[in-house]
Amino acid sequence: MGSTTAALPALATKPKFIFFTDFDGTITQQDSNDYLTDNLGYGGERRRQGNQDVLAERRDFRDTFQEMMDSVQGTPFDQCIKVLLQHITLDAGFLAFFHWARENNVPIVVLSGGMEPIIRALLAHFLGKEEADTLQIVSNNVAQRSPGKSINEEGGWKIVFHDDSGFGHDKSIEIRPYANLPEGERPVLFYAGDGVSDLSAAKETDLLFAKAGRDLVTYCEQQNVPFTTFESFDDILATVKYIVAGKLSVKDAATGRK
Ligand SMILES: [Mg+2]
Repeated sequence: MGSTTAALPALATKPKFIFFTDFDGTITQQDSNDYLTDNLGYGGERRRQGNQDVLAERRDFRDTFQEMMDSVQGTPFDQCIKVLLQHITLDAGFLAFFHWARENNVPIVVLSGGMEPIIRALLAHFLGKEEADTLQIVSNNVAQRSPGKSINEEGGWKIVFHDDSGFGHDKSIEIRPYANLPEGERPVLFYAGDGVSDLSAAKETDLLFAKAGRDLVTYCEQQNVPFTTFESFDDILATVKYIVAGKLSVKDAATGRK
């Protein structure tokens, strides 16, 4: 069993439920990559056009995201983090959800199209470093743009994608081995997200929480993916508590747009 646990780290505590979640715009109130693009890169209009193109399946998320991040090149990476620490805020209910999940053996796995050092810095800022370090994060990363350059100088960094998929980070890769576990060993799987970076994960779990009013809701309706909406993690916590207590099935919880 040791090898299974190594490949599936969220099984280490033998949970009955696992909570996968997007980071930007889901755990946080704003999307940090959108913030960088809109304020330090090519701006909101072009970014929104890119998102529309992905939803309409005219372009891959990977290409639009690469463009967005390349447009932020003028700002050193440590400066990007500094700006984000000043402007990105945590979802109002996440802290309570985080503590409840830990007390109730519901591992939280962060699946993100963003870059790991940014996610780690923001989580350490919101939760404290020790708490933040307990979360498994699977995401894209950052690297020096060319040898001899530092990521913390102008034009010094670039995004490094998690895999070769058109998503840049195909979130289904991490979820599917859990979903494929045999009956009796397979935990109930949740996912929470808000936008185009979540399309690869949307069909993989037992219950999908899509942030009200965001692109993921539209996508789920287009693709007939069952979901329920949330405004903040307060809503998610209320629903997950019911399910964990056996008072609500994941099927009945997928009520669609409210
Ligand atoms: Mg997001």
